[in-house]
Amino acid sequence: MHEPPDATARRATQPVICYPNHTLPLPDLALYSAARERAVKIEEITVPPREAACFNAQAGQFFRITSVEGPQVGDLNLWNAQDLSERFYSGKTRALHGTHLTRGERMWSSFPHLRPMATITHDTLEWYGMDAYGGSVHDVIGTRCDPYTGNLLAGTHYHHCCHSNLTRALADTLDLSLDAAEPHVHDVLNVFMCTGFTRDTGQYFMKASPVRPGDYLEFFAEIDLLGALSACPGGDCSAEHSSDTAACHPLLVEIFASDPADLRGWQSPAPNGYDRSHGR
Ligand SMILES: [Zn+2]
Repeated sequence: MHEPPDATARRATQPVICYPNHTLPLPDLALYSAARERAVKIEEITVPPREAACFNAQAGQFFRITSVEGPQVGDLNLWNAQDLSERFYSGKTRALHGTHLTRGERMWSSFPHLRPMATITHDTLEWYGMDAYGGSVHDVIGTRCDPYTGNLLAGTHYHHCCHSNLTRALADTLDLSLDAAEPHVHDVLNVFMCTGFTRDTGQYFMKASPVRPGDYLEFFAEIDLLGALSACPGGDCSAEHSSDTAACHPLLVEIFASDPADLRGWQSPAPNGYDRSHGR
């Protein structure tokens, strides 16, 4: 392979952050935390292993995803409860916050809305940081395990990948056919999953999740949400997914209602203000 004479100099160019995020509107975490103290639990849903379940969280409510029984990874989809075309935008969330999310960071919605759907208010795995392999938890770099990739790579037809689990859960909840539900399923927040990119080949890797029963990730719902959570067939994702081989455990989703008086001064974010003329 021929290299130009100034190859070293070209590689030594300093990187620049694509989206400096110091102008992002910051969530009022102190307000959320005060509201959370008096919030009351109103519902809980248990997601069975290798299945998914839907839940609702209204704007101003909190939802918590907890590991129970054993280490388990969850694949999370979010939609605007009134408009499924507004859904979580993993790629733009990654561009704004980086590869993995934690407390104070937000799940952003698709164009043309591009507004915060949910803000992470508590993360018991915040201590993990970035490990020596470049791995961290709660990624927005993976997609969701799915039967199409399994068929492509191994010729398998496995039906309990997160993509299929989320499709069935959405179809059942909204009384849609599988064909009608499937296009709404999108790239996820990989809750509790420990992932990164290998330094040498840049490949997506996973390793055993550090999550233990009792660990949780909690969110403040910025808009009315329909959520779907799949208990990934990979279990803790230490070895493989897309099969029934791994030990799998349930996940618990709890919804907490806050007192509107405790959210005085907070407003559900409006859709993005771009004028949408696109140069015409
Ligand atoms: Zn999965």
